[in-house]
Amino acid sequence: MTSYISLPMYSANIDERMRLIAGKCVSCGQLAFPQRPVCTKCGGDQFEDTLLSGDGSLYTYSVVAGNGAPSEFDDEQTMTGDVLCGVVELKEGPRVMVRLADMEPEELEIGMKVRAVIRRLYDQEGIVRYGTKFVPA
Ligand SMILES: [Zn+2]
Repeated sequence: MTSYISLPMYSANIDERMRLIAGKCVSCGQLAFPQRPVCTKCGGDQFEDTLLSGDGSLYTYSVVAGNGAPSEFDDEQTMTGDVLCGVVELKEGPRVMVRLADMEPEELEIGMKVRAVIRRLYDQEGIVRYGTKFVPA
């Protein structure tokens, strides 16, 4: 799920978010996605970029019905109805909060296989924002 993100913040880590690049702790191997400055397992602060596959399974989900989503989703909600979001457990381990696409609310099932794709998220400040959504694998 997303909410308001300033253009500088959106631009700062766009490569990491679009390509799903995790930080792998050099000390213990723990993967962090999104990347963090300090490892939550061992406190290490050295990481190497690790490309994630984008494959995972749906850990949990939520259906955000009319007017429940942040205002940047108003246009999308008008066109498509409910906004689907969830937590995906990536094949490599990290769990990430995501937007879901190409499925109806009644098709959502915990454990279903999903994969990452790049999709249009919303317009903000006159700029179309793109990002990762997850679709059925
Ligand atoms: Zn570590």
